[in-house]
This record gives sequence, structure tokens and C-alpha cells, in this order.
Amino acid sequence: MAATPSITPETSAPAVEATKPTTGSGEWWRQTFAYTTGMGMTEAERANFEATRLQQRRERECAKCEKNLDYLLKFSPIIRFMLENVRSANGQLDKSNIRCLPCDQFQSGGFSPKYGILLCQNQLRDRGHLEDTLAHELVHAYDHLRFDVDWQDLRHHATAEVRASSLSGECRWTREAFTRGVWDFTAHHQECVRRRAALSVRAHPKCKDDEHAVRVVNEVFDSAFADTRPFREIYR
Ligand SMILES: [Zn+2]
Repeated sequence: MAATPSITPETSAPAVEATKPTTGSGEWWRQTFAYTTGMGMTEAERANFEATRLQQRRERECAKCEKNLDYLLKFSPIIRFMLENVRSANGQLDKSNIRCLPCDQFQSGGFSPKYGILLCQNQLRDRGHLEDTLAHELVHAYDHLRFDVDWQDLRHHATAEVRASSLSGECRWTREAFTRGVWDFTAHHQECVRRRAALSVRAHPKCKDDEHAVRVVNEVFDSAFADTRPFREIYR
């Protein structure tokens, strides 16, 4: 067989045809049946197929995440505002340390004082979701630079999560209403912030259980919620 730059070397068809056959074509039927029923596929073929498909998905997710990120870094008021505030606190966050990567766990992003901001490309639904997530992590970065946060301390962590959920836009009522069916928007914002903060605190290694997470969030809530720095008030 001629050496083609195909990702699936078992097939003699060109790469594009091999990976994405025209719907209804002979190859489409063969692949569709093979991949759903395992019919006519060897173990090696299957493993190769799964690996190729995963890699293709990762590439698609990464490209979409990067494109949305580029757009937001240029045009999003909240992202630009937070980046400016991070800069004025002597931090530098840009495309070198804000990274789109696949995540194993169910999370949308993360902040590491050492490495920067992680955006979970496989969990982010759309640009709005990415914007909220990035804004959330930027609030963490800002807090880290401004307030000497001890991330090992549960109360510090809970305070940071309340602020990040409240200020990022994650809890404005439309987003939650559309994606979670929450229609009671009286005091909805606060409830949403409490719930999201407790979920994040729950993942902290020092948190014992759900009840513990809720308790710590409640303890810090009032002061954390009232502190809207660097915003003058809650955004949006
Ligand atoms: Zn957080």
C-alpha cells in the first residue's frame, strides 16, 4: 500500500475520505456499521479508531476553545476589566498561561498560582460559558495577588469561591434559568452563589462532606458577598 499521510493506515482511501466519508456512501455504511456493531473490525482497528476519534475531538474542542478565548481577550468587557486589574496587581495573564486543555473531571476551569488558568475545553458549552469560567478564574487570580489567599485554608477558599461565583456572571439569572430551569429569580443570585461556592468548597481536600461545605460557605458568606472588589457593584 502506498504510504499516505492517513491517520488510519489500514485503509487505502485518502485521509479525509477515511475519516469523514460522505453520508450514504459505501464507506460511510461500512464505518457506521463497523463502529456501532463492531462488525468487520479487528481489535487493532477498533483501538485505532477510538484513538483517532478522540484525538480529532480534542483538536476540534481545542480549536473552538482557542477561538472563543481570542475573541473574549479582545472584546469581552468583563475579561478585559479583570485582566487590567490583574496587571495592576503585578500579575501577567495572557495566552501563555491561560490554556485550553482537556480535563478528566467534571469541572470547567481552574486557577493555579504557579501555572495560571486552565480552561476545560471538553466541558465548556459555548463562548458565554467560557467567558463566565474565565471571569471566575480571573477573580481567583486577582484575589491571590491582592489578598494573600491561603488556598489550603477552607475559609479563605470559601471566601474566594463566593466572590468568584458572584462576580463572574455565572449566577446571573438568565444563564441559570435557561440551562437549569431555575425560574425563581428573587434572591436567586445569592442562592446560586451559595450553591456553586459550596460545590467548589466540597472539592477541597480539607472539606469533610456536603454539610461541612455549606457551613463554611455560610460562615463567610456575608462579608465575602459584600466585597465586590475590583467591581463597584455586582457586574450585570
Ligand atoms: Zn473557583
